[in-house]
Amino acid sequence: MKTPVFIIDENKLRHNCEILDAVRREADCKILLAQKAYSAYATYPLISRYLDGTTASGLYEARLGKEYFGGETHVYNPAFKPDDFAEILRYADHITFNSVSQLDRYADVARAAGKSIGLRVNPECSTQSGHEIYDPCAPFSRLGVPAAQLTDDAADRLDGLHFHTLCEQNSDDLETTLDAFCDKFGKYLGDMKWVNFGGGHHITRADYDIPRLIRCIRRIKEYGCEVYLEPGEAVVLNAGTLVAEVLDVVHNGMDIAVLDASAACHMPDVIEMPYRPPIEGAYAKTGTHEDSGAGEGYEKFSDAADPGEKACTVRLAGATCLAGDITGDWSFDRPLTAGDRIVFGDMALYTMVKTNTFNGTPLPDIALRTSSGKLTLLRTFGYDDFRNRL
Ligand SMILES: *Cc1c(COP(=O)(O)O)cnc(C)c1O
Repeated sequence: MKTPVFIIDENKLRHNCEILDAVRREADCKILLAQKAYSAYATYPLISRYLDGTTASGLYEARLGKEYFGGETHVYNPAFKPDDFAEILRYADHITFNSVSQLDRYADVARAAGKSIGLRVNPECSTQSGHEIYDPCAPFSRLGVPAAQLTDDAADRLDGLHFHTLCEQNSDDLETTLDAFCDKFGKYLGDMKWVNFGGGHHITRADYDIPRLIRCIRRIKEYGCEVYLEPGEAVVLNAGTLVAEVLDVVHNGMDIAVLDASAACHMPDVIEMPYRPPIEGAYAKTGTHEDSGAGEGYEKFSDAADPGEKACTVRLAGATCLAGDITGDWSFDRPLTAGDRIVFGDMALYTMVKTNTFNGTPLPDIALRTSSGKLTLLRTFGYDDFRNRL
C-alpha cells in the first residue's frame, strides 16, 4: 500500500448508517447524505441501503447522487446559474432556493418540471461559538431568507422550508434553533409539505442526545409536514483514516517530521477551521504480514499524545513550500524517523472532497477496508490528475 492513502472503513460506515436508520424509523423522518462532506461514490451502494437519498450543493453533486446513489435527490445552492439550471432539473426532484429573487426567477420552470420547491430561511439564531465561518446565522449572512423578507406571496409558492444553522452540534442546539424557527416561520407550516432541518447534527457521536432529536422531529411532524435531515459528517464520522509516511526529520528549535500528507493539500480544514485531528498512532516497518491499520508489515510503536507528555515531541508538517503547512505538534514514545507511518483518524469527512494538488503534490489514493478486513484500492491518482486541471 502506497502512501498517502485515505482508507474508508466499511464497518464503521455501516455502524453510522445503522444509527441513522434507527432515527429514520423511530421518528418517521427522511435522512439524506450531504455529499458536500463525502462523495466517495464507490460506497454509495452501502449507504443507500439505509438512507433516503442525497442532497447536493449544485449540478455536479446532484448528478453524482442521481447516478450512483438513487433515491431522492435534493439540491440547494446560494445562487443557481441559468446555464446549469436546466440540467439540474434532469437530476433533482427537490429544489431549494436561497432567496425570493431566485424563487421568482426559477420557480415556474421548476414547477412545470414537476419539482418540489423549497426556500432556505434564516432563523437568525446563532448557536455556535468559535467557528464563525461555519455559522450561517452570523451577521450579514447570505444564507437563507430572514423572516422579515418572506412575503405571503412567496410562501404560497412553496412546498417546503429549509434551514441549516448547525455544525457538529447536539440536539439541544437544534431545539433552540427550532424554537426560533417556529416563532418566526410557524405560521407557514400548516401549508408546507416538508421541512428540512439541514445538516450539522452530530448524531453518530457517542454523547449525542437522540431522544431529543426525535422529539424535535415529531414537533414539526405535528403540522403535517415530512421532516428531512441532511447530515454529512454524521454519516462518515470516524469512518476513515489518512495514512502518511515520514519522509525526513529536520531540527530547528524542535523536531519537525516532514510527511507525504499535507495539511494544505489533503486536510485543508486543519488550517481553515482550524482543528487538531486525532492520531491513531505511529507505526514502524517490521516485515511481518500483520496489517495494523498502517498497512501490511507495519506495527504500532506509540500512541500520540499532546506535546511534552511522551518522551519525544515533534511537529508534523507537509512536504510543500507553504511555511504554514503544519498539521500540529504531538509527542511519541521515541523519535520519528524516515519510513515511519502516522495514521490520522476521522479522515473521511471534508477531506477527499477538498484535496488539491498545490505544489504539484500528489493526491492520496482512496482505499476501502471491507467488513472482512481486506484492503481494496478504489482510486489511484497520478500526474494526469494534476495536469488535467490546469
Ligand atoms: C454543509 C451542509 C450540510 C451538511 O453539514 P454537516 O455539518 O456535514 O452535517 C447539509 N446541508 C447544507 C445546506 C449544508 O450547507
